[in-house]
Amino acid sequence: MTHIKLYIPGPVEVRQEVLDKMATPMIGHRTKAASALQRGISDKLRQLFYTESEILLSTSSGTGLMEGAIRCGTVKRAAVFSVGSFGKRWYELAINNNVPADLFEVPDGQPTDPAEVDRVLATGKYDLVTITHNETSAGLTNDCAAIGEVIKKYPDVLYCVDAVSSAGGVKIEVDKWGIDVCITSSQKALGLPPGLAICTFSQKAVERAKQVKNRGYYLDLLSLYNTIQKKDYQYPSTPTIAHMFALDYQLDCILEEGLENRFARHKEMADYIRAWANEYFEVFPAAEYASNTVTCVKNTRDIDVAAFRKALNAKGLEISDGYGDLKGKTFRIAHMADMTMDDMKELVAAMNEILGF
Ligand SMILES: *Cc1c(COP(=O)(O)O)cnc(C)c1O
Repeated sequence: MTHIKLYIPGPVEVRQEVLDKMATPMIGHRTKAASALQRGISDKLRQLFYTESEILLSTSSGTGLMEGAIRCGTVKRAAVFSVGSFGKRWYELAINNNVPADLFEVPDGQPTDPAEVDRVLATGKYDLVTITHNETSAGLTNDCAAIGEVIKKYPDVLYCVDAVSSAGGVKIEVDKWGIDVCITSSQKALGLPPGLAICTFSQKAVERAKQVKNRGYYLDLLSLYNTIQKKDYQYPSTPTIAHMFALDYQLDCILEEGLENRFARHKEMADYIRAWANEYFEVFPAAEYASNTVTCVKNTRDIDVAAFRKALNAKGLEISDGYGDLKGKTFRIAHMADMTMDDMKELVAAMNEILGF
């Protein structure tokens, strides 16, 4: 089978060297070698997230840690701010875990307004906020720094951020922005296969989780935290060691590239794809909120998106349709992880040929 190159917002293309690391011979998960591997990964991730918080790894996709965060972090009530499909997922997670929550939505393509967060928190009803940093369905990045400034006025409120499709491609200053739990997945801007989730976990989050009676079992973030403290970075159950070998290697590559260089590369690719989109279509969200990891293109020419994607497949390339309600009305091009400008030029040339531009 010939490989189709992925320009979809996860899973992304994974470099062969990274894939090869997953085939490293196994080690026991209760060994010094496992401790060293997992401790090293956590130290490198603290650099990536600009934080001193503990790092938790979970053998699940990112949704697992979202579930753990809202369940282990809410005593009173969660305020879920949604700007699209992944924002709504937090609400579903809350409801299905018997966590009291309210959903605050805005029309598609609009960001979360920090003033609205302020108004909601001023009611005093909430002790946890969820924000989608990069809404993959809309190609929109929220201003998590400005939202963090508002949340700092409410010291009892835990700030949880879904950075699944941005961490590793966009700068996220967890400590400066006051984020308590910042979550990502392996298969997006970090450039690994799916199967491992990562989050930062602040002291405030630790103290909060202690107040929550039923935290579940597998996704009990306090149990993950306590175990890594007691057992030198080992986990309660067997983790995906194969991913850890690959992640450890990939983090070395990321830090060697340089975080600022990596973020600049993502911006350069995003600017290029946005320029193409604006020439022939429109970028879906307002320019100031357009994402640097995924571009959501408004289908202003009413092209047959399914046929367009099929034609790209025939050329060995894959992009995404719109997500949920936006299917057919938009299409999405990811520019994340280890993609380069050459990859973007290859895609644009193919799209132009198919569309006759
Ligand atoms: C992909 C994605 C998720 C879901 O992550 P999984 O790893 O598939 O569970 C959540 N939020 C955002 C913004 C995403 O892009």
